[in-house]
Amino acid sequence: MIPRPEHTVSRKSISEAALRVLYRLLDAGYDAYLVGGGVRDLLLGRDPKDFDVATNARPEKVREIFRNCRLVGRRFLLAHIHFGNEIVEVATFRASHDQAGHGEEGVMDDGRILRDNVYGTLEQDAWRRDFTVNALYYNPRDFSVLDFGMGLADLRAGVLRLVGDPYSRYREDPVRMLRAVRFAAKLSFRIDPDTEAPIAQQHHLLREVPAARLFDEVLKLLMTGNGCQTFTLLRHHGLFAELFPQTESALVYEKEGFALAILRRALSNTDERVLASKPVTPSFLFAALLWEPVRQDVLQQLKVPIREALPLAADRVLQEQNTRVAIPRRYALQIREIWSMQGRLAQIKGKRQTHLIGHPRFRAAYDFLLLRAASGEDVEDLASYWTHLQAEKGLIEVPETLDPEAVVSEAAVESVATTQGNPRRRRYKLARHKPAPRGK
Ligand code: ATP
Ligand code: MG
Repeated sequence: MIPRPEHTVSRKSISEAALRVLYRLLDAGYDAYLVGGGVRDLLLGRDPKDFDVATNARPEKVREIFRNCRLVGRRFLLAHIHFGNEIVEVATFRASHDQAGHGEEGVMDDGRILRDNVYGTLEQDAWRRDFTVNALYYNPRDFSVLDFGMGLADLRAGVLRLVGDPYSRYREDPVRMLRAVRFAAKLSFRIDPDTEAPIAQQHHLLREVPAARLFDEVLKLLMTGNGCQTFTLLRHHGLFAELFPQTESALVYEKEGFALAILRRALSNTDERVLASKPVTPSFLFAALLWEPVRQDVLQQLKVPIREALPLAADRVLQEQNTRVAIPRRYALQIREIWSMQGRLAQIKGKRQTHLIGHPRFRAAYDFLLLRAASGEDVEDLASYWTHLQAEKGLIEVPETLDPEAVVSEAAVESVATTQGNPRRRRYKLARHKPAPRGK
Protein backbone atom coordinates (compact mmCIF):
# COMPACT_ATOMS: atom_id res chain seq x y z
CA MET A 1 0.00 0.00 0.00
CA ILE A 2 1.42 3.35 -1.02
CA PRO A 3 -0.03 6.15 1.14
CA ARG A 4 -1.20 9.43 -0.37
CA PRO A 5 1.96 11.52 0.28
CA GLU A 6 4.07 9.01 -1.64
CA HIS A 7 2.26 9.02 -4.98
CA THR A 8 0.94 11.52 -7.50
CA VAL A 9 -2.69 10.49 -7.96
CA SER A 10 -4.75 13.43 -6.81
CA ARG A 11 -8.54 13.75 -6.72
CA LYS A 12 -8.25 16.95 -8.71
CA SER A 13 -7.09 15.05 -11.77
CA ILE A 14 -9.84 12.41 -11.58
CA SER A 15 -12.93 13.26 -13.60
CA GLU A 16 -16.03 14.46 -11.78
CA ALA A 17 -17.96 11.53 -13.25
CA ALA A 18 -15.49 8.91 -12.02
CA LEU A 19 -15.48 10.46 -8.53
CA ARG A 20 -19.28 10.42 -8.44
CA VAL A 21 -19.31 6.73 -9.36
CA LEU A 22 -16.70 5.87 -6.71
CA TYR A 23 -18.47 7.74 -3.91
CA ARG A 24 -21.94 6.50 -4.80
CA LEU A 25 -20.68 2.91 -4.63
CA LEU A 26 -18.98 3.57 -1.27
CA ASP A 27 -22.16 5.22 0.06
CA ALA A 28 -24.16 2.16 -0.99
CA GLY A 29 -21.85 0.06 1.22
CA TYR A 30 -19.61 -1.44 -1.48
CA ASP A 31 -15.86 -1.27 -2.11
CA ALA A 32 -14.82 0.74 -5.12
CA TYR A 33 -11.41 1.51 -6.63
CA LEU A 34 -10.07 3.35 -9.61
CA VAL A 35 -8.00 0.91 -11.68
CA GLY A 36 -6.39 0.42 -15.09
CA GLY A 37 -5.42 3.17 -17.49
CA GLY A 38 -6.71 5.98 -15.28
CA VAL A 39 -4.40 5.18 -12.36
CA ARG A 40 -1.51 4.22 -14.64
CA ASP A 41 -1.68 7.42 -16.66
CA LEU A 42 -2.09 9.68 -13.61
CA LEU A 43 0.95 8.09 -12.00
CA LEU A 44 2.86 8.81 -15.20
CA GLY A 45 1.65 12.40 -15.19
CA ARG A 46 -0.42 11.83 -18.34
CA ASP A 47 -3.99 12.76 -19.11
CA PRO A 48 -6.12 9.56 -18.88
CA LYS A 49 -8.36 8.71 -21.84
CA ASP A 50 -11.06 7.38 -19.54
CA PHE A 51 -11.58 5.98 -16.07
CA ASP A 52 -12.26 2.41 -15.05
CA VAL A 53 -13.71 1.41 -11.71
CA ALA A 54 -13.51 -1.97 -9.95
CA THR A 55 -16.02 -2.91 -7.26
CA ASN A 56 -17.38 -5.84 -5.29
CA ALA A 57 -20.93 -4.86 -6.30
CA ARG A 58 -22.41 -7.25 -8.89
CA PRO A 59 -23.42 -5.71 -12.22
CA GLU A 60 -27.15 -5.97 -11.38
CA LYS A 61 -26.55 -4.05 -8.15
CA VAL A 62 -24.56 -1.40 -9.99
CA ARG A 63 -27.49 -0.96 -12.32
CA GLU A 64 -29.84 -0.47 -9.38
CA ILE A 65 -27.62 2.28 -8.00
CA PHE A 66 -27.20 4.28 -11.25
CA ARG A 67 -30.05 5.36 -13.47
CA ASN A 68 -27.64 6.26 -16.28
CA CYS A 69 -26.26 2.71 -16.40
CA ARG A 70 -26.11 0.13 -19.18
CA LEU A 71 -24.87 -3.43 -18.86
CA VAL A 72 -22.64 -4.42 -21.76
CA GLY A 73 -20.14 -7.08 -22.77
CA ARG A 74 -20.10 -10.49 -24.33
CA ARG A 75 -17.17 -12.09 -22.58
CA PHE A 76 -18.19 -10.65 -19.24
CA LEU A 77 -20.77 -8.24 -17.96
CA LEU A 78 -19.65 -4.67 -17.41
CA ALA A 79 -21.60 -1.64 -16.31
CA HIS A 80 -21.24 1.53 -18.35
CA ILE A 81 -22.31 4.64 -16.46
CA HIS A 82 -23.06 7.49 -18.85
CA PHE A 83 -22.40 11.15 -18.04
CA GLY A 84 -22.96 13.12 -21.23
CA ASN A 85 -20.12 12.08 -23.52
CA GLU A 86 -18.15 10.42 -20.76
CA ILE A 87 -18.56 6.76 -19.87
CA VAL A 88 -17.19 5.33 -16.64
CA GLU A 89 -16.69 1.58 -16.94
CA VAL A 90 -17.48 -0.37 -13.78
CA ALA A 91 -16.25 -3.97 -13.55
CA THR A 92 -17.04 -6.36 -10.73
CA PHE A 93 -13.96 -8.02 -9.11
CA ARG A 94 -13.30 -11.26 -10.95
CA ALA A 95 -11.04 -14.21 -10.36
CA SER A 96 -9.23 -16.24 -12.99
CA HIS A 97 -10.77 -19.65 -13.56
CA ASP A 98 -8.13 -21.77 -11.85
CA GLN A 99 -8.12 -19.52 -8.77
CA ALA A 100 -11.86 -19.84 -8.43
CA GLY A 101 -11.57 -23.64 -8.61
CA HIS A 102 -14.61 -23.85 -10.84
CA GLY A 103 -13.30 -26.52 -13.16
CA GLU A 104 -12.68 -25.37 -16.68
CA GLU A 105 -16.07 -24.30 -17.92
CA GLY A 106 -15.90 -21.33 -20.24
CA VAL A 107 -12.35 -22.24 -21.26
CA MET A 108 -11.73 -23.70 -24.72
CA ASP A 109 -9.33 -26.57 -25.48
CA ASP A 110 -6.81 -24.03 -26.70
CA GLY A 111 -6.94 -22.22 -23.35
CA ARG A 112 -9.01 -19.30 -24.59
CA ILE A 113 -11.48 -17.83 -22.13
CA LEU A 114 -14.94 -17.47 -23.61
CA ARG A 115 -16.93 -16.49 -20.57
CA ASP A 116 -15.26 -14.94 -17.61
CA ASN A 117 -17.96 -14.22 -15.09
CA VAL A 118 -16.31 -15.79 -12.07
CA TYR A 119 -16.49 -13.16 -9.38
CA GLY A 120 -13.68 -12.83 -6.86
CA THR A 121 -11.87 -10.68 -4.35
CA LEU A 122 -9.88 -7.51 -4.93
CA GLU A 123 -6.62 -9.44 -4.85
CA GLN A 124 -7.88 -12.07 -7.28
CA ASP A 125 -9.01 -9.24 -9.51
CA ALA A 126 -5.46 -7.88 -9.55
CA TRP A 127 -4.08 -11.25 -10.70
CA ARG A 128 -6.41 -11.61 -13.63
CA ARG A 129 -5.52 -8.19 -15.11
CA ASP A 130 -3.24 -8.06 -18.13
CA PHE A 131 -0.13 -5.99 -17.27
CA THR A 132 1.36 -5.18 -13.88
CA VAL A 133 1.08 -1.45 -14.62
CA ASN A 134 -2.64 -1.93 -15.30
CA ALA A 135 -3.22 -3.67 -11.97
CA LEU A 136 -2.77 -0.66 -9.68
CA TYR A 137 -5.76 0.43 -7.60
CA TYR A 138 -6.55 3.84 -6.19
CA ASN A 139 -8.59 3.65 -2.99
CA PRO A 140 -10.92 6.64 -2.61
CA ARG A 141 -11.39 5.91 1.12
CA ASP A 142 -7.85 6.78 2.15
CA PHE A 143 -6.40 7.99 -1.20
CA SER A 144 -3.75 5.26 -1.18
CA VAL A 145 -2.58 3.22 -4.18
CA LEU A 146 -2.57 -0.58 -3.94
CA ASP A 147 0.04 -2.66 -5.74
CA PHE A 148 -0.14 -6.45 -5.46
CA GLY A 149 2.90 -7.17 -7.62
CA MET A 150 5.49 -5.13 -9.38
CA GLY A 151 3.19 -2.53 -10.89
CA LEU A 152 4.90 0.54 -9.48
CA ALA A 153 8.41 -0.77 -10.05
CA ASP A 154 7.53 -1.57 -13.67
CA LEU A 155 5.87 1.80 -14.08
CA ARG A 156 9.00 3.57 -12.89
CA ALA A 157 11.21 1.44 -15.12
CA GLY A 158 8.93 1.87 -18.13
CA VAL A 159 8.33 -1.85 -18.54
CA LEU A 160 5.28 -3.73 -19.73
CA ARG A 161 5.07 -7.10 -18.03
CA LEU A 162 2.18 -9.52 -18.17
CA VAL A 163 0.82 -10.67 -14.83
CA GLY A 164 1.49 -14.42 -14.52
CA ASP A 165 2.76 -16.86 -17.15
CA PRO A 166 2.92 -15.02 -20.50
CA TYR A 167 2.28 -18.08 -22.69
CA SER A 168 -0.94 -18.98 -20.96
CA ARG A 169 -2.06 -15.38 -20.56
CA TYR A 170 -1.79 -14.94 -24.36
CA ARG A 171 -3.56 -18.25 -24.94
CA GLU A 172 -6.41 -17.16 -22.66
CA ASP A 173 -6.81 -13.96 -24.62
CA PRO A 174 -4.63 -13.38 -27.69
CA VAL A 175 -5.75 -9.72 -27.84
CA ARG A 176 -3.27 -9.14 -25.00
CA MET A 177 -0.51 -9.33 -27.65
CA LEU A 178 -2.09 -6.35 -29.39
CA ARG A 179 -2.52 -4.55 -26.10
CA ALA A 180 1.18 -5.06 -25.31
CA VAL A 181 2.13 -3.33 -28.55
CA ARG A 182 -0.48 -0.61 -28.12
CA PHE A 183 0.72 0.36 -24.64
CA ALA A 184 4.38 0.08 -25.64
CA ALA A 185 3.77 2.60 -28.43
CA LYS A 186 1.52 4.88 -26.44
CA LEU A 187 3.64 5.03 -23.28
CA SER A 188 7.05 4.56 -24.95
CA PHE A 189 7.56 1.55 -22.66
CA ARG A 190 9.60 -1.48 -23.55
CA ILE A 191 8.04 -4.91 -23.42
CA ASP A 192 9.76 -7.17 -20.90
CA PRO A 193 11.66 -9.96 -22.76
CA ASP A 194 9.54 -12.72 -21.18
CA THR A 195 6.37 -10.91 -22.18
CA GLU A 196 7.72 -10.20 -25.65
CA ALA A 197 9.17 -13.59 -26.59
CA PRO A 198 5.93 -15.60 -26.84
CA ILE A 199 4.43 -13.17 -29.37
CA ALA A 200 6.70 -14.42 -32.16
CA GLN A 201 5.42 -17.95 -31.56
CA GLN A 202 1.82 -17.20 -30.76
CA HIS A 203 0.70 -14.38 -33.04
CA HIS A 204 -1.32 -16.86 -35.10
CA LEU A 205 -3.67 -17.21 -32.09
CA LEU A 206 -5.24 -13.94 -33.21
CA ARG A 207 -7.02 -15.93 -35.93
CA GLU A 208 -9.22 -17.43 -33.19
CA VAL A 209 -10.41 -14.03 -31.99
CA PRO A 210 -13.81 -12.88 -33.32
CA ALA A 211 -13.23 -10.53 -36.26
CA ALA A 212 -15.67 -7.95 -34.84
CA ARG A 213 -13.64 -7.60 -31.64
CA LEU A 214 -10.49 -7.15 -33.70
CA PHE A 215 -12.08 -4.24 -35.57
CA ASP A 216 -12.51 -2.40 -32.26
CA GLU A 217 -8.92 -3.21 -31.34
CA VAL A 218 -7.59 -1.98 -34.68
CA LEU A 219 -9.29 1.37 -34.11
CA LYS A 220 -7.59 1.64 -30.72
CA LEU A 221 -4.27 0.62 -32.26
CA LEU A 222 -4.28 2.90 -35.28
CA MET A 223 -6.70 5.72 -34.57
CA THR A 224 -5.80 7.02 -31.13
CA GLY A 225 -2.80 9.17 -31.97
CA ASN A 226 0.09 6.67 -32.02
CA GLY A 227 -0.75 4.88 -35.24
CA CYS A 228 2.66 5.23 -36.90
CA GLN A 229 4.64 3.85 -34.00
CA THR A 230 2.06 1.13 -33.34
CA PHE A 231 2.13 0.06 -36.99
CA THR A 232 5.91 -0.32 -36.86
CA LEU A 233 5.70 -2.45 -33.72
CA LEU A 234 2.82 -4.55 -35.08
CA ARG A 235 4.87 -5.41 -38.15
CA HIS A 236 7.99 -6.06 -36.12
CA HIS A 237 6.12 -8.63 -34.03
CA GLY A 238 4.35 -10.34 -36.92
CA LEU A 239 0.97 -9.10 -35.68
CA PHE A 240 0.17 -6.86 -38.62
CA ALA A 241 0.26 -9.86 -40.96
CA GLU A 242 -2.40 -11.54 -38.81
CA LEU A 243 -4.69 -8.53 -38.98
CA PHE A 244 -4.07 -7.47 -42.60
CA PRO A 245 -2.57 -10.47 -44.42
CA GLN A 246 -3.31 -9.07 -47.90
CA THR A 247 -1.64 -5.77 -47.08
CA GLU A 248 1.37 -7.51 -45.59
CA SER A 249 1.92 -9.59 -48.75
CA ALA A 250 1.48 -6.50 -50.88
CA LEU A 251 4.08 -4.69 -48.76
CA VAL A 252 6.51 -7.54 -49.19
CA TYR A 253 5.84 -7.80 -52.91
CA GLU A 254 5.85 -4.16 -53.93
CA LYS A 255 9.47 -3.11 -54.22
CA GLU A 256 9.31 0.61 -54.97
CA GLY A 257 8.20 1.54 -51.48
CA PHE A 258 4.94 3.02 -52.67
CA ALA A 259 2.79 0.59 -50.66
CA LEU A 260 4.60 1.45 -47.45
CA ALA A 261 4.59 5.17 -48.23
CA ILE A 262 0.81 5.39 -48.53
CA LEU A 263 0.33 3.55 -45.22
CA ARG A 264 2.81 5.72 -43.37
CA ARG A 265 1.32 8.88 -44.80
CA ALA A 266 -2.26 7.85 -44.00
CA LEU A 267 -1.25 6.89 -40.47
CA SER A 268 0.71 10.05 -39.79
CA ASN A 269 -2.15 12.19 -41.15
CA THR A 270 -4.46 10.33 -38.79
CA ASP A 271 -2.09 10.82 -35.84
CA GLU A 272 -1.86 14.53 -36.56
CA ARG A 273 -5.62 14.90 -36.77
CA VAL A 274 -6.18 12.98 -33.53
CA LEU A 275 -3.62 15.11 -31.72
CA ALA A 276 -5.31 18.26 -33.04
CA SER A 277 -8.71 16.85 -31.90
CA LYS A 278 -9.98 16.83 -35.48
CA PRO A 279 -12.45 14.12 -36.50
CA VAL A 280 -11.07 10.97 -38.12
CA THR A 281 -12.97 8.29 -39.97
CA PRO A 282 -12.07 4.61 -40.07
CA SER A 283 -13.18 4.37 -43.72
CA PHE A 284 -10.43 6.65 -45.01
CA LEU A 285 -7.71 4.83 -43.10
CA PHE A 286 -9.00 1.39 -44.07
CA ALA A 287 -9.27 2.52 -47.70
CA ALA A 288 -5.56 3.35 -47.50
CA LEU A 289 -4.63 0.18 -45.59
CA LEU A 290 -6.22 -2.00 -48.25
CA TRP A 291 -5.47 0.09 -51.33
CA GLU A 292 -2.37 -1.78 -52.43
CA PRO A 293 -4.12 -5.19 -52.50
CA VAL A 294 -6.97 -3.56 -54.45
CA ARG A 295 -4.60 -1.86 -56.86
CA GLN A 296 -2.73 -5.09 -57.49
CA ASP A 297 -6.00 -6.94 -58.07
CA VAL A 298 -7.05 -4.30 -60.61
CA LEU A 299 -3.77 -4.75 -62.45
CA GLN A 300 -4.45 -8.47 -62.71
CA GLN A 301 -7.71 -7.81 -64.51
CA LEU A 302 -6.20 -7.31 -67.95
CA LYS A 303 -8.47 -5.70 -70.51
CA VAL A 304 -11.16 -4.92 -67.94
CA PRO A 305 -11.85 -1.16 -67.83
CA ILE A 306 -10.75 0.32 -64.55
CA ARG A 307 -14.28 1.40 -63.59
CA GLU A 308 -15.43 -2.21 -63.75
CA ALA A 309 -12.26 -3.71 -62.35
CA LEU A 310 -12.29 -1.59 -59.18
CA PRO A 311 -15.58 -2.82 -57.70
CA LEU A 312 -14.61 -6.42 -58.39
CA ALA A 313 -11.27 -5.94 -56.69
CA ALA A 314 -12.99 -4.15 -53.80
CA ASP A 315 -15.38 -7.07 -53.28
CA ARG A 316 -12.61 -9.64 -53.23
CA VAL A 317 -10.32 -7.68 -50.93
CA LEU A 318 -13.04 -6.69 -48.46
CA GLN A 319 -14.46 -10.19 -48.29
CA GLU A 320 -11.04 -11.62 -47.52
CA GLN A 321 -10.32 -8.87 -44.99
CA ASN A 322 -13.56 -9.54 -43.13
CA THR A 323 -12.35 -13.02 -42.20
CA ARG A 324 -9.74 -11.32 -39.96
CA VAL A 325 -10.99 -7.88 -39.05
CA ALA A 326 -14.71 -7.39 -39.62
CA ILE A 327 -15.39 -3.95 -41.05
CA PRO A 328 -18.91 -2.79 -40.16
CA ARG A 329 -21.18 -2.37 -43.19
CA ARG A 330 -21.46 1.40 -43.06
CA TYR A 331 -17.69 1.78 -43.23
CA ALA A 332 -17.35 -0.89 -45.92
CA LEU A 333 -19.79 1.08 -48.08
CA GLN A 334 -17.77 4.26 -47.67
CA ILE A 335 -14.51 2.44 -48.41
CA ARG A 336 -15.99 1.01 -51.61
CA GLU A 337 -17.12 4.48 -52.66
CA ILE A 338 -13.71 6.03 -52.02
CA TRP A 339 -12.17 3.33 -54.19
CA SER A 340 -14.70 3.35 -56.99
CA MET A 341 -14.49 7.14 -57.14
CA GLN A 342 -10.78 6.71 -57.95
CA GLY A 343 -11.95 5.13 -61.19
CA ARG A 344 -14.49 7.87 -61.88
CA LEU A 345 -12.02 10.65 -61.08
CA ALA A 346 -9.66 9.14 -63.67
CA GLN A 347 -12.30 9.23 -66.44
CA ILE A 348 -12.06 12.84 -67.45
CA LYS A 349 -11.77 12.51 -71.20
CA GLY A 350 -13.85 14.89 -73.29
CA LYS A 351 -16.34 16.55 -70.98
CA ARG A 352 -15.44 18.00 -67.64
CA GLN A 353 -16.92 15.91 -64.87
CA THR A 354 -17.82 18.91 -62.74
CA HIS A 355 -20.88 17.14 -61.34
CA LEU A 356 -18.64 14.67 -59.48
CA ILE A 357 -17.62 17.53 -57.19
CA GLY A 358 -21.14 17.41 -55.75
CA HIS A 359 -20.90 13.69 -54.96
CA PRO A 360 -21.20 13.05 -51.20
CA ARG A 361 -17.96 11.06 -51.24
CA PHE A 362 -16.07 13.50 -53.50
CA ARG A 363 -14.09 15.15 -50.74
CA ALA A 364 -12.86 11.86 -49.28
CA ALA A 365 -12.12 10.48 -52.75
CA TYR A 366 -10.21 13.63 -53.72
CA ASP A 367 -8.22 13.54 -50.46
CA PHE A 368 -7.48 9.91 -51.21
CA LEU A 369 -6.26 10.83 -54.68
CA LEU A 370 -3.95 13.44 -53.11
CA LEU A 371 -2.69 10.78 -50.71
CA ARG A 372 -1.92 8.45 -53.61
CA ALA A 373 -0.12 11.21 -55.48
CA ALA A 374 1.89 12.25 -52.42
CA SER A 375 2.88 8.62 -51.84
CA GLY A 376 4.47 8.34 -55.25
CA GLU A 377 1.72 6.74 -57.30
CA ASP A 378 1.64 8.19 -60.78
CA VAL A 379 -1.48 10.32 -60.37
CA GLU A 380 -0.02 13.76 -59.69
CA ASP A 381 -1.42 15.22 -62.93
CA LEU A 382 -4.85 13.82 -62.20
CA ALA A 383 -4.77 15.19 -58.66
CA SER A 384 -3.82 18.66 -59.82
CA TYR A 385 -6.53 18.52 -62.48
CA TRP A 386 -9.12 18.12 -59.73
CA THR A 387 -7.43 20.76 -57.61
CA HIS A 388 -7.60 23.17 -60.54
CA LEU A 389 -11.20 22.41 -61.23
CA GLN A 390 -12.26 23.04 -57.64
CA ALA A 391 -10.17 26.18 -57.35
CA GLU A 392 -11.69 27.46 -60.57
CA LYS A 393 -15.11 27.04 -59.05
CA GLY A 394 -13.99 28.89 -55.97
CA LEU A 395 -14.56 25.79 -53.83
CA ILE A 396 -11.05 25.65 -52.46
CA GLU A 397 -8.28 28.16 -52.06
CA VAL A 398 -5.68 28.03 -54.75
CA PRO A 399 -2.77 26.13 -53.20
CA GLU A 400 0.38 28.25 -53.12
CA THR A 401 2.30 25.53 -54.89
CA LEU A 402 0.15 25.95 -57.99
CA ASP A 403 0.52 28.70 -60.54
CA PRO A 404 -2.61 30.85 -60.12
CA GLU A 405 -2.57 31.65 -63.85
CA ALA A 406 -2.71 27.97 -64.63
CA VAL A 407 -5.64 27.49 -62.31
CA VAL A 408 -7.90 29.88 -64.15
CA SER A 409 -6.72 28.81 -67.53
CA GLU A 410 -9.26 26.64 -69.25
CA ALA A 411 -6.54 25.35 -71.53
CA ALA A 412 -4.51 24.05 -68.63
CA VAL A 413 -7.43 22.03 -67.34
CA GLU A 414 -8.20 20.71 -70.78
CA SER A 415 -4.62 19.71 -71.44
CA VAL A 416 -4.49 17.66 -68.26
CA ALA A 417 -7.88 16.22 -69.13
CA THR A 418 -6.81 14.98 -72.51
CA THR A 419 -3.60 13.31 -71.42
CA GLN A 420 -5.28 11.74 -68.40
CA GLY A 421 -8.13 10.49 -70.53
CA ASN A 422 -5.91 8.47 -72.83
CA PRO A 423 -6.48 4.84 -71.85
CA ARG A 424 -3.13 3.65 -73.20
CA ARG A 425 -1.30 6.15 -71.11
CA ARG A 426 -3.37 5.15 -68.10
CA ARG A 427 -2.50 1.52 -68.52
CA TYR A 428 1.18 2.46 -68.57
CA LYS A 429 0.71 4.51 -65.41
CA LEU A 430 -1.06 1.76 -63.57
CA ALA A 431 1.48 -0.78 -64.67
CA ARG A 432 4.36 1.20 -63.26
CA HIS A 433 4.21 -0.89 -60.11
CA LYS A 434 4.36 -4.47 -61.25
CA PRO A 435 1.29 -6.54 -60.34
CA ALA A 436 1.51 -9.32 -57.79
CA PRO A 437 0.46 -12.78 -58.89
CA ARG A 438 -3.03 -13.27 -57.52
CA GLY A 439 -3.42 -15.42 -54.44
CA LYS A 440 -0.10 -14.41 -52.99
P1 ATP B 1 -6.73 2.84 -22.07
O1 ATP B 1 -5.86 4.00 -21.77
O2 ATP B 1 -6.64 2.40 -23.49
O3 ATP B 1 -8.15 2.97 -21.59
P2 ATP B 1 -6.67 0.77 -20.11
O4 ATP B 1 -5.51 0.07 -19.46
O5 ATP B 1 -7.58 1.55 -19.23
O6 ATP B 1 -6.05 1.65 -21.25
P3 ATP B 1 -8.99 -0.66 -20.91
O7 ATP B 1 -9.24 -1.40 -22.16
O8 ATP B 1 -9.79 0.57 -20.61
O9 ATP B 1 -7.45 -0.33 -20.90
O10 ATP B 1 -9.16 -1.70 -19.72
C1 ATP B 1 -9.17 -1.31 -18.37
C2 ATP B 1 -8.41 -2.32 -17.53
O11 ATP B 1 -9.04 -3.60 -17.61
C3 ATP B 1 -6.98 -2.56 -17.97
O12 ATP B 1 -6.10 -1.61 -17.43
C4 ATP B 1 -6.73 -3.94 -17.42
O13 ATP B 1 -6.46 -3.89 -16.03
C5 ATP B 1 -8.06 -4.64 -17.62
N1 ATP B 1 -8.13 -5.34 -18.91
C6 ATP B 1 -8.62 -4.86 -20.09
N2 ATP B 1 -8.54 -5.76 -21.07
C7 ATP B 1 -7.97 -6.85 -20.53
C8 ATP B 1 -7.63 -8.14 -21.03
N3 ATP B 1 -7.83 -8.47 -22.31
N4 ATP B 1 -7.07 -9.03 -20.17
C9 ATP B 1 -6.87 -8.69 -18.87
N5 ATP B 1 -7.17 -7.52 -18.35
C10 ATP B 1 -7.72 -6.59 -19.15
MG1 MG C 1 -9.38 2.52 -19.77
